[in-house]
Amino acid sequence: MPASRRDFRTDRCLTRIVATVGPACSRPADLERLVREGVSVFRLNLSHGDLDAHGRAIRSIRRAAAALRVEVGILADLPGPKIRLTTMPAGRVVNLRHGDTVRIARGSAPIDPDARPATLRVDYAGLSNDVRAGDRVLIDDGAVQLRVRRVARGTVECTCEVGGAVSGRKGVNLPESAVRLRAPTSRDRTLADWAVSHGADFVALSFVQRPADVRVLRGVLDAAARRGRRRAPAIVAKIERPVALGELDGIAAVADAMMVARGDLAIELDFARVPVEQRRIQAACDRAAIPCIVATQMLQSMMEAPLPTRAEASDVANAILSGTDAVMLSGETAAGRHPFESVRAMRRIAQEAERWTSAQPPAPLRAIALAESPEPAAVLARAIAQMAVDARARAIVCWTDARSVRFISQADVQVPVVAFGDEDAELRSLALLRGVHAIRTRHPIDSRDFVRRAETLLRSAGMLAPKDRIVVATGFAGHGTERLWLRRVGERAV
Ligand code: ATP
Ligand code: MG
Ligand code: MG
Repeated sequence: MPASRRDFRTDRCLTRIVATVGPACSRPADLERLVREGVSVFRLNLSHGDLDAHGRAIRSIRRAAAALRVEVGILADLPGPKIRLTTMPAGRVVNLRHGDTVRIARGSAPIDPDARPATLRVDYAGLSNDVRAGDRVLIDDGAVQLRVRRVARGTVECTCEVGGAVSGRKGVNLPESAVRLRAPTSRDRTLADWAVSHGADFVALSFVQRPADVRVLRGVLDAAARRGRRRAPAIVAKIERPVALGELDGIAAVADAMMVARGDLAIELDFARVPVEQRRIQAACDRAAIPCIVATQMLQSMMEAPLPTRAEASDVANAILSGTDAVMLSGETAAGRHPFESVRAMRRIAQEAERWTSAQPPAPLRAIALAESPEPAAVLARAIAQMAVDARARAIVCWTDARSVRFISQADVQVPVVAFGDEDAELRSLALLRGVHAIRTRHPIDSRDFVRRAETLLRSAGMLAPKDRIVVATGFAGHGTERLWLRRVGERAV
């Protein structure tokens, strides 16, 4: 077998790692190195950078994945109705101090850092209608805080209560104001079309408030996919508005995955409630049997430092111990000093947490959508999970449809699921699922042919050894799983 077979990354953790692409990691060699370190999904934050650069990143990611022979997902993150500052001349900031008067003007012009009094600008025309005197205006995830003094002729005049350096395109939150913006915005729709035509596997909808928001985006994506004769991307609903917390099961029922977007959640909600809300969002994902991503500032100190703090290591480990499918890096990989070390730190924390979980007695199935469904894919997934646990299997090896693989993964048996297939987009759609290795291979002739080839491949990759117990699930006629097989690696195939 060629040496590149090892590039299946069999030393990956079960937990999926999502990394945000940005200037610190956008060269092709950087992206390839991030995949080697264990990234399964790259996130493009469409709030930043230009579309040409994102398009180049997509091509580089696809090339890196092909060279390493792994399936890597691409997640296009839509800006949503987030109010942002306009741009600022390169390298400039506005320094605000406690007590300063700060004006917020409307329009799309860049911010003039030399204006006096300090004048920021947002591209949202409704700002002066939505805020009232006394409301807080939080900039850059609350790092800088203003309070509205008065609103006059479209300009909002504020007093700075917490100062700091403000750069361009930073987010603006209005926790006390009734903001009238809804997701997806018209800009989101345009970007969703772009994402489909550039082959994104996942599209994240920011600031979801209710299930209907997800359905609207689904309509946009399906229409774009039909026009381009492509597979429609899966939808990741980002939970970052307090109102969405009252609709978690409804949103989970229509989304393909949910993200705990803790940055805006922590700003809009009391920060003390965020850890508990994270658990509630994870539990809603469990019930719906969809993957959960925990995001935002997980290893924030690694923006500068080569190692995480203890609090950060605990944060990542706790998300994993409570069953998240994926953990995400934002600024750490996009703009930090240690993008590769950040991914490595996450992988190592995940591996330790997973070692512990694997040694515990199997937990009861939390996925109600899987546990109670009479649907054949769900019934078979339950049987496969039970077989894997009872036989202490080393792996679940399958050739089946994406829905069945999702159910097998969400049964959460702490056993790697190796999903073979011959269709790239379908294999990449599995990239957020905990424990799933997706491997592309040509279509087998039958179950015997499949098991022989799969075992050869996985043995040469060092993932399986002769006599290892495995559960094999196959279905070739396009209707899910048809054959279940408990066997030892190397046993004669009949
Ligand atoms: P969001 O609220 O959507 O998370 P953010 O501003 O916090 O937005 P992140 O994706 O979390 O953005 O990334 C953190 C930082 O990394 C950004 O504030 C930005 O400075 C930088 N960054 C991310 N993506 C890019 C990009 N494509 N080009 C330039 N800088 C980027
Ligand atoms: Mg965002
Ligand atoms: Mg962020």
